Amino acid sequence: MSGLVEGKAAIVTGAGQGIGLAIATVLREHGAKVALVDLDGDRVKQAAADLGGDVLALTCDVTDEQAVDRVVREAVEEFGGLDVHVNNAGITRDASLRKMSADDFDEVVNVHLRGTWLGVRAASAVMRDAGHGSIVNISSLSGKSGNPGQTNYSAAKAGIVGLTKAAAKEVAHKGVRINAVQPGLIRTAMTEAMPPDVFAEREAAIPMKRAGEPAEVAGAVLFLASELSSYMTGAVLEVGGGRLM
Ligand code: NAP
Repeated sequence: MSGLVEGKAAIVTGAGQGIGLAIATVLREHGAKVALVDLDGDRVKQAAADLGGDVLALTCDVTDEQAVDRVVREAVEEFGGLDVHVNNAGITRDASLRKMSADDFDEVVNVHLRGTWLGVRAASAVMRDAGHGSIVNISSLSGKSGNPGQTNYSAAKAGIVGLTKAAAKEVAHKGVRINAVQPGLIRTAMTEAMPPDVFAEREAAIPMKRAGEPAEVAGAVLFLASELSSYMTGAVLEVGGGRLM
């Protein structure tokens, strides 16, 4: 199947590497014009150059209200509209409750929850005026189950589910759909930072007995971005190899 998002304009945050880059890649492969957004300007420029064609590289911190509004404006000006917006940028600052600082908590909640909220607000404003659009928020199975050492991250990722459902209810009648994806253990720089024994232990607990690849998350995002999911909003898709079903 090809061309599932042919001619659509999309924004993907945290698109310089990992899951975000895989999402931008599959949206491009299926015919979308894509704005890649990331904190790291050089990395996002290189990623955009590698993708080629109708792509835009934009540097932005998703916690910065003005910067998020600006990237949405720039993408709309360049592409003539906005059909798909993916809130994917993320960080971890793992530590037990005894060791986690309030700054570690604030930083993670800010990037995931405030960043996603700012993206949802800016993108949905454009989409409701146009009468259509699909927003996809990247949560995590950590937000469903709660992971020890991730009280900040689990709280933020669970918060993204509530935000997705509330926002979906607000804009459904305007033709805008908002859904979330909860990846499990996926092979990226984020999980490479985990101690190898913890990674192996988590992998062994997955019914499919392996970690997922970024492209396998991107497939679910493509589905939610496309008209194949035209009657879905406020849904949460788990992409975890059967973990925590
Ligand atoms: P990754 O490889 O670390 O990529 C995350 C990207 O987001 C990086 O390019 C990072 O840029 C960027 N970013 C971080 N803070 C940002 C900010 N304030 N503004 C703009 N961009 C920012 O991580 P990943 O594994 O692909 O994760 C992507 C998403 O999937 C995240 O939301 C993550 O929580 C979620 N997820 C991942 C897994 C997994 O197993 N990997 C599982 C469940 C959910 P810098 O590198 O410059 O900071």
